[in-house]
Amino acid sequence: MSETQAEEQEPEETTRTGNTLECRRCGRKDGLVTRYEINLCRQCFREVARDMGAKKYS
Ligand SMILES: [Zn+2]
Repeated sequence: MSETQAEEQEPEETTRTGNTLECRRCGRKDGLVTRYEINLCRQCFREVARDMGAKKYS
């Protein structure tokens, strides 16, 4: 009686963390704002916020 050993093939772990720590707008990794999971660098965040604010207040 021979038992067949089921070799579990585990998928190679990639460096994928699900959390890309880089600006989704320009790809910078400097000065990231990850507070609200917006994933934007401070510069882009500022521009976006400014844009939104400008629209909001106009
Ligand atoms: Zn950016």
